[in-house]
Amino acid sequence: MKINQRNILLNPGPVTLSDRVRESLLKEDLCHREPEFAQLMLDIKTRLVSVYPEAIANYEAIVLTGSGTCAVEAMLSSLIPKSGKALIVTNGVYGERMAKMVKIHDKNLTVVTSPWEEPMNLQAVEQYLTQDSSFTHVVAVHHETTTGRLNDVAKLGEICRSLNIALLLDCVSSFGAETIKFSDWNLEACAATANKCLHGVPGLSFVLVKKSVFEFRSTAASSLYLDLYSYHKQQLEGYSPFTQSVQVSYALREALKELEDDGGWKSRHNLYQNRSQMIQNGLQSMGIETLLNPVNYSCVLKSYKLSLSYSYEQIHDYLKQSGFIIYAGQGGLEKTIFRIANMGNIQEDDIVNLIQCFKEIFFQETKR
Ligand SMILES: *Cc1c(COP(=O)(O)O)cnc(C)c1O
Repeated sequence: MKINQRNILLNPGPVTLSDRVRESLLKEDLCHREPEFAQLMLDIKTRLVSVYPEAIANYEAIVLTGSGTCAVEAMLSSLIPKSGKALIVTNGVYGERMAKMVKIHDKNLTVVTSPWEEPMNLQAVEQYLTQDSSFTHVVAVHHETTTGRLNDVAKLGEICRSLNIALLLDCVSSFGAETIKFSDWNLEACAATANKCLHGVPGLSFVLVKKSVFEFRSTAASSLYLDLYSYHKQQLEGYSPFTQSVQVSYALREALKELEDDGGWKSRHNLYQNRSQMIQNGLQSMGIETLLNPVNYSCVLKSYKLSLSYSYEQIHDYLKQSGFIIYAGQGGLEKTIFRIANMGNIQEDDIVNLIQCFKEIFFQETKR
């Protein structure tokens, strides 16, 4: 099947699909209570924990129908006990969103907030954790998509491991493209989605949970729909308590196969890194600067300072005419930055064309 228009999505998910993943949507209808669907789900669960081979032995993937936020909320609601206490480390929109969730679910929490352009405040984290022994969980964002910063979870995880406090991570925009150390970081669970670095279709998300948790602790969920324990029980056999997105499941399986065929997450990391560097070099040659020191970025997305002479809308609208969708800043950064993600089925030629479009904007070069 051919589609008429190819949009090159440079927003942080959903991504431009490969033909292979798009075509996988066109398969037979299935009832989610039949064994054929259960087989598909079991296959997806196995492939998800195998993205990082270290996770295979001790973690289970729980698949939910919903966007990345659904998986993050299910993780926080189900795993932080009512009698426990969470230390939430924030330096952007997604960390702050998790603090809101934990409040809504009425759990004990302390928030260590940093300005969006700064790293996590690990000194404060260490102080809180050593002074107050009632903390059971640390909650953080791996790749803070607000700015593109890859947070120093290696250091945070080391603190968690040394104090034996469980770490819960939002890996929504890093899973499949950045290092995740399950044991070294004392990781109890991480949440992610089908439609970012895994290149699937939007509609499914998942949580990788340490299996032993289901045995030694009962659910803490204050939500029926977001209770990971009820999914866990039924998904051991491939079933789910509620209707799953069947077609999106076909696409996720195909996307995971494609990731395996392409050499796994490390190859994807290198591919993203090269794309990201190409974009950065191109924009820097026109005087467009990155918001953060380039060494602090993930391979997935970079944020760039808007120049004084062009508004975000002008740049966005011009690029959109040529098929490229870029992404605005959020909150206080709305008027000062734009963001370019480089996930999905994009080619080197696309990036060359993107840079050419920027030249047309900034130097009014005539259109080819
Ligand atoms: C995209 C994203 C989410 C979730 O977004 P959804 O729109 O719900 O899929 C959560 N955290 C981070 C870090 C993200 O980049």
